[in-house]
Amino acid sequence: MEKVIIIRYAEIHLKGKNRGWFEKVFAVNIEKNLKGIRHELRRLSGRYLVENFNEEDTDTVVNRLMKVFGIHSISIAQKVSSDMQNIYEAALSVCPETGTFKVETHRADKTFSLNSMQISAEIGGKLLENNKNLKVDVHNPQSTVYIDLRENGTALVFGKFFKGAGGMPVGTAGKGMLLLSGGIDSPVAGHMIAKRGMSLECIHFHSYPYTNMMAKEKVIELAKILSPYTCGIKLNIVSVTHIQEEIHKNCNADYMVTLLRRFMMRLSERIAIKNGAQCIITGESLAQVASQTIEGMTSSNSVIGKLPVLRPLCGFDKDEIIERSRAIGTYATSIEPYEDCCTVFLPEHPVTRPKLAEVEAEESKLNVALLIDEALSNIEVIKV
Ligand code: ATP
Ligand code: MG
Repeated sequence: MEKVIIIRYAEIHLKGKNRGWFEKVFAVNIEKNLKGIRHELRRLSGRYLVENFNEEDTDTVVNRLMKVFGIHSISIAQKVSSDMQNIYEAALSVCPETGTFKVETHRADKTFSLNSMQISAEIGGKLLENNKNLKVDVHNPQSTVYIDLRENGTALVFGKFFKGAGGMPVGTAGKGMLLLSGGIDSPVAGHMIAKRGMSLECIHFHSYPYTNMMAKEKVIELAKILSPYTCGIKLNIVSVTHIQEEIHKNCNADYMVTLLRRFMMRLSERIAIKNGAQCIITGESLAQVASQTIEGMTSSNSVIGKLPVLRPLCGFDKDEIIERSRAIGTYATSIEPYEDCCTVFLPEHPVTRPKLAEVEAEESKLNVALLIDEALSNIEVIKV
């Protein structure tokens, strides 16, 4: 009897002609997440099997697989050679102690001497005989013992399905540039887009020395938490200190955030294109804060020439975002106190519904092109 893990995938089987490519990317991503753990990954029809790992690594393997997008569900199974005594012993090991149950058999090996119904009946009968606290209920059982007879003379026996991360394999839907702030929202936004198969690269803007270095450490930590979901992450750290100083010196103070956001967008688009990213992703949510009005978004979108901006959280309430952030594991880090560059020179009355003409009039007091080139010339790159 060998412990193995069955991986079932989600929507990949819908992808007609491209299916082979999707499966290849999927397998590579699984291997990346299992790096450093002894195992073998084998493809069966419509699923994958992780075998040959040390039993004490089971939890680690399961936890790492839970962060691979494209996985619909997994089961921890006993693999035995297909003979009724072996199958019974495996069934016994996954069967509950008490309650109602049924046995469900899937027989890919059509040459096996018994059919699915007969196998279920015989194994179910023996389990009942062995344990008087069990009762069969084929319609609404508390537990099910699943037997999967493969063509290669082995049977997989298991009792539970664990829901996987879902979505599509990362790397099958292009690449996006995530604006990662250190707050609660942007890691959740990145996670949602990665779930649909997009690889991520991140940009973080800081205003050192107005903001402290802990802010940077925090963002690195957030990128680390996201990294298993995204099969690695590259983080671009960009200073906007001089840009903010120039806005502060030359422009109406109320436009600080609005103008800064436009600089962030311009910088993001340039860095995205240079690195082959096809869109910009932010954690903005409509009406969440003063700058996240539709007018604010119009103002920041209007400086973007080529790439779409994805704002997956636009329709979410804060508590829904927090729930997701807890689920993916970023919440505790996100709420650590720190100063975002948006809090530097923060005006008392920021414009909430900026008119484009007025924004542009304020911005015309700056040498935008020079400030952008300056910021781009000094990017720190960290591979997480
Ligand atoms: P978050 O929780 O993601 O920080 P927020 O609610 O604080 O979002 P804002 O500060 O208005 O909202 O930021 C909106 C979005 O702009 C962020 O979700 C992020 O994508 C981007 N952003 C803001 N500040 C930064 C920064 N310092 N570096 C990179 N991106 C940023
Ligand atoms: Mg923020």
